[in-house]
Amino acid sequence: MLVLILVLRLFFIQIVERPYLYEKALSQWMRPELKSTRGGIFSRNGVLLLDTERKKVAFISPGWLKDDEKNLLIEGEIIKADDFKQPFIKITEPQKINILEKLEKISPGIVIYNEIERYGEEALATHLIGLAGKSGIEKKYDAILSQSKKNEEIFFDGIGQPIKGSIREKDKNNWGVYLTIDEKIQKKIEEIMDEEVKKGAVVVLDAKTGEILAMASRPNFKQKFVENFLNDPDSPLLNRALMPYIPGSVFKLVVLSAALEEKLSDLNEVFNCPGFIKVGGNIFKCTSYKNGGHGQITLRDALAYSCNVVFIELGRRVGKEKIIEYAKKYGLGEKVLDEIPEEKPGNVPDPKSLYYQDLGNISIGQGKIQITPIQVAKMMLTIVNDGQEINPHVVKKIINKDGEVVFDDRFVDYRGNRVISKENADKIKETLRAACLYGSAVKANLPGESKSAGKTGTAELGDNTTHAWFVGYYPYDQPEYVVSILLERGGSGPSNAAPLFSKIIREITNF
Ligand SMILES: [Zn+2]
Repeated sequence: MLVLILVLRLFFIQIVERPYLYEKALSQWMRPELKSTRGGIFSRNGVLLLDTERKKVAFISPGWLKDDEKNLLIEGEIIKADDFKQPFIKITEPQKINILEKLEKISPGIVIYNEIERYGEEALATHLIGLAGKSGIEKKYDAILSQSKKNEEIFFDGIGQPIKGSIREKDKNNWGVYLTIDEKIQKKIEEIMDEEVKKGAVVVLDAKTGEILAMASRPNFKQKFVENFLNDPDSPLLNRALMPYIPGSVFKLVVLSAALEEKLSDLNEVFNCPGFIKVGGNIFKCTSYKNGGHGQITLRDALAYSCNVVFIELGRRVGKEKIIEYAKKYGLGEKVLDEIPEEKPGNVPDPKSLYYQDLGNISIGQGKIQITPIQVAKMMLTIVNDGQEINPHVVKKIINKDGEVVFDDRFVDYRGNRVISKENADKIKETLRAACLYGSAVKANLPGESKSAGKTGTAELGDNTTHAWFVGYYPYDQPEYVVSILLERGGSGPSNAAPLFSKIIREITNF
C-alpha cells in the first residue's frame, strides 16, 4: 500500500509540476566516471567459474528531487533527512529497491542499475582462482584481467550525481582467462569433497594432455565472504593441492623406477619379508608385521602389497644418490605449474645431507621428503605416458580486453624429458594394476569391475596420525584420467583414499 501511495503521489507531482530541466542537467556533465570490470575466469567450455552476480542498486540524487519527492522518500523510510547532504545516496537493500524501481520511471533523481559482484556464493575452484590481485590465477594474470574494458558506464554530473539514462552496457564480458578446468568435473569433485573430506586435496588430470580438469582443496572458503575465513585455524585459504606433505608409500614408485632403470632388480625377483628390517640401528616394520611378514614375495607383489621390507632392501641396493636423482627426474621438489604464485616446491633432500640410517625412511617415503599432490599427479602422468614427462597446465586460452587471443595452449609443447623407458613404464603400470587387482588398492575399483590402477600411501607423522594418499589412473587400458588424492591426517591410503578414487571415477565417468 505504501508503495502505491508513493507512486501515485510522485506521479501527481510529475504531471502537475513538470517539467524538470533534464536537458539542462545533461549539459552540465563535467566528467564521465567509468565503472570498470575485470576480465572473467572461465572453464574450458567458456562457463564463468566466479558465479559473478549482478545486483540491483539504486542511486538517489537529492539535487534532482523536488521537496515533495524528498519528503516522500523520508516518509517511506527509504532515506533519512540527513542523507540529503551527500551528492547521491546509494541504496542496496532489495525491499527499498523494489519500491524505488516503481518510482524510477517518473523521477530523474532515481537511477537503478545492475552492479557486478565478482564472486558469488557458488563460485567454483576458489583456491585455484584465488582473489583479485592477491592469489591464484587472479594474481598471476592480474595485469591482463585488470585491463578492464569499460563494461558499464555511468555518467555523473558536475556535483557527482549519477545522470539518469546514462548507463550503457558494453561488451559481453567474455574476455579473460580460460582454464583447462572442466566445470562439471570440478563441481562434482567439490560436492564429493564437501561430503567426505575435512582436509585435503584432489587433482584430476587429462591422462593424455596433462590438462588440469579439476583441482580442489578442503576446507573450502568463499571469496565473497573472504574476511570470515582469514583467521580460521584450519587455514581454509591454503591450496592444499600445491602444499608439501610426507608421501609415504606413493614414493615407492620412485625407488622402483630407479631400480628398474639401473637394472638392479626386476619384477620377478623374489625377496623375503620377515615382517621387519633393521637399518643402522632402526627397526622398520612392514604392514604384514603382525602376520609374520609377507614371506617369499616378488618385487611385483611387493609393490602391489606395498611391502616396506622389500622396498627398504631395494632402496639400500639403489642408494641415496640414485633415489634422489629419480625423484628429481620426476619433478618432485620443484614447482609443477607456472600459473599459481603460491605453489610450494616441497622438499627433496640433497643426498649429501642423508645418512645411511636415513635410507630406510627415504625408501618408503618417510623422513625428510615432502611432495605436493600436484607433483604426485605429475609423476603418475609420466608413468601413464610411457615414461615421457608431460607438464600439467591449467590455462587454456587468454583473450585480452580487445578480444584478441594472446595465449593458446594448442601452440605450446608441454612435453619435457624422458624420465624412464617405455619398457619400464609398462612394468610399473603392471604393478599398479596388480595393486588394484589384489593388493593394497583393491578399494580403488568401481563396484563390479576392475579397471583401476594406482598406488596407495599412508604417511606416518609421528603422532599416531597419518596422511592418506592415493594416486592412480582410469581405465587402465585406455587411460583418460589421472587422479591424485591427499587426505591430511585422514587415515590410510587403502581404507580412505583408495575408496575415494573409486567414488570420484564413478561420478565423473557417469555424466
Ligand atoms: Zn612385507
